[in-house]
Amino acid sequence: SGNEIVTDVVIIGAGPVGLFAVFELGLVDLKCQVIDILDRAGGQCAELYPEKPIYDIPAFPEISGQGLTDNLMKQIQPFGAEFHFSQMVANVEKLEDGTFRLTTDAGEVFITKVVVIAAGGGSFQPKRPPVEDVEQYEGKSVFYAVRKMEDFRDQDIVIVGGGDSALDWTLNLEPLARSLTLVHRRDQFRGHADSVNKMRALVEEGRINFITGQLGRLEGENGQLKEVYLKTAGGELGVPATRLLPFFGLTMKLGPVADWGLDLHDNALIKVDTEKFETSEPGIFAIGDINWYPGKLKLILSGFHEGALMAQAAKKIVHPDQKVIFQYTTSSTQLQKKLGVA
Ligand code: FAD
Repeated sequence: SGNEIVTDVVIIGAGPVGLFAVFELGLVDLKCQVIDILDRAGGQCAELYPEKPIYDIPAFPEISGQGLTDNLMKQIQPFGAEFHFSQMVANVEKLEDGTFRLTTDAGEVFITKVVVIAAGGGSFQPKRPPVEDVEQYEGKSVFYAVRKMEDFRDQDIVIVGGGDSALDWTLNLEPLARSLTLVHRRDQFRGHADSVNKMRALVEEGRINFITGQLGRLEGENGQLKEVYLKTAGGELGVPATRLLPFFGLTMKLGPVADWGLDLHDNALIKVDTEKFETSEPGIFAIGDINWYPGKLKLILSGFHEGALMAQAAKKIVHPDQKVIFQYTTSSTQLQKKLGVA
């Protein structure tokens, strides 16, 4: 069908290891599509510790989780990988011709010769707010991520949370919303200072509301929310709401990766060899925190090395006829052309 994206390589996970894999695959001329459940790149570095310094990235005496992510995005920019955020790869199946068909929970379909699982600690899954009947509204008027901004146009939006997701979506959805209310249990935010300032300016201008309080109960029918009731210091407060975005943090679960028929270690990690970092299924590789082999260390630098070796093996699968000559980026004009510097 026309909706399938056909590519050389699909990388599952846009953490640091998935990002650097784009670079190594790019040097051997393989095109990548990258999919992540989160709404941005960086995996654990961006989601769990964006501002914490990391001290063991070679040649960076100190770099923050977000700084590392930003640098990796810049480094892979020449290779034009396409990113598909806010969706989870749910299925991986092998087709008769030896290629793979991947399906995401957002309905996107990819046909690829090579699959690289860089799924880290597994899939980040949103925590449900502790509110009765929230399940019956999920996917209809309660969402844990924004896939299509258009679905929020002219809606009464309530966003709950105090981190970057809550703040970013407050800023991004405000121009589309009929009304927008940000709710947080206290008047202090964990997000970037710049976003907090922008949010406060919108409140000053009367374009959004900010309420200190907690989600109490939901009102609506057939999955369509009408109003949310908040617990505030002044008592219960009803706010019109046709869309609710609760950002209560994320937990990590192995998720669908466990169901793809790959040999696992301790039922939690994907077994690979240390020559190619290939799984028990030829053509499917696993790199970074998700894999296991004797001596494995869950460090970012290990994942970078694994990506380099994986790329050599992936090249042989996609272009069995082409020989890869070992070259240095410092001295090869061929590699420099790919990087756009020669
Ligand atoms: P991740 O960063 O976990 O990224 C995996 C991505 O895959 C996630 O974004 C996830 O959403 C996505 N994903 C998973 N399943 C699916 C699916 N089915 N479909 C779509 N997407 C999917 N390491 C160091 O080397 N040095 C340090 O100093 C250091 N400090 C740390 C401090 C903290 C607080 C933490 C939590 C970790 C630290 N680490 C450190 C570990 C380091 O962050 C990890 O080794 C690294 O993030 C692993 O990268 P990754 O790309 O393999 O996986």
